[in-house]
Amino acid sequence: MTTYTIALLPGDGIGPEITQTAVGVLTEATRLYGGADLVYTEIPASATHWLQHGVAMTDEHFAACADADAMLMGAIGLPQARHPDGREVNGDVIFRLRFDLDLYAGVRPIRRFPGVPCPLADDKPVDYVIVRENVEGLYASRGGGTNVRGEVATDTIVITERGTRRITEAGLRLTRRRHGRPGDGRRVLTCVDKANVLSSYAFFREIFDQTVDAAPDGADLSTEHLYIDAMCAMQVLHPDRFDVVVAENMFGDITSDLGAATVGGLGMAPSGDIGDSHGLFQPSHGSAPDIAGQNIANPVAMILSGAMMLDWLADTRNDPAVGKLAEAVDGAVARVLARGDVLTPDLGGSASTTDVGAAVIRELSNNA
Ligand code: ATP
Repeated sequence: MTTYTIALLPGDGIGPEITQTAVGVLTEATRLYGGADLVYTEIPASATHWLQHGVAMTDEHFAACADADAMLMGAIGLPQARHPDGREVNGDVIFRLRFDLDLYAGVRPIRRFPGVPCPLADDKPVDYVIVRENVEGLYASRGGGTNVRGEVATDTIVITERGTRRITEAGLRLTRRRHGRPGDGRRVLTCVDKANVLSSYAFFREIFDQTVDAAPDGADLSTEHLYIDAMCAMQVLHPDRFDVVVAENMFGDITSDLGAATVGGLGMAPSGDIGDSHGLFQPSHGSAPDIAGQNIANPVAMILSGAMMLDWLADTRNDPAVGKLAEAVDGAVARVLARGDVLTPDLGGSASTTDVGAAVIRELSNNA
């Protein structure tokens, strides 16, 4: 049985409570199913740490994250924790990890769980993954834009051949690991851009196409191109058509929140920030200070992020036993949601954060 070290960053707001719930589930899963030993190192990097000590993440915190086998994060950021120029300090943690560890692929599954109320009119299955380019695109300008005398402001988009090639390759790898889109099982890789307006996006599309053409199985999958505006419409009208979607940084940011909203909201959306040698897993939502400390936050995105972490460890370390653990956690969450009687208030229920954790643990134990 392999031991994996996990850098645990509970963070701010609802972060600590959902982290505690998710770790409780993972601990119980390993106790019941074996397969891996997870050893956590808690790292207090957070907006709270910045308020107390003037720094959100120390070099020691960063080194502990870099040394761990994987990172699991609750949520970082508080509205009152801002640099003098107005930027929230959460970037000191999230962007530092993302950029310095080169976590270039933002992997965001959008999955409809039976039992979870959602705004889509029909009951077609939704199960796709957005692969967001994480370290370039328009957000590469962060901190580097211009504001001339308060009259003109500019930011510059950065699209590189290498960045586009490797994010497309990450999308290709994911299509190979999945079973195609729901319904007909076709493997479809979608490229989201605005190639009809900006040459940077036309370049993104060109490199995407070249990369797929060069892939050994490129001919076995369907590719499609969608402009970002059409993508948003399709996410609402025909989300069942998607399998894996590759998008530039800002477009990936926007489409993943829209996708999450279509399947029950941010509390349902896990994510992974993944590079060639490091992986950081966290719910897509922020620290939600408005509901912090009340034991009402939905922990599902956080628990599913934990399952994604196990799945990534299984894939990158070639460790099927930890993959089985990931499946067990994922399946237990799906069964709890399908029953529909233990849902948090954001999903129309009255269950608490800890109720959901306990229900998932009961499911794990019933199926062990
Ligand atoms: P950030 O910019 O840091 O991502 P945000 O401003 O988008 O954060 P969130 O913290 O994600 O905001 O929260 C937005 C709203 O969604 C909050 O008002 C909160 O009530 C709700 N919300 C977010 N996460 C959850 C959750 N896990 N469970 C229940 N409600 C949530």
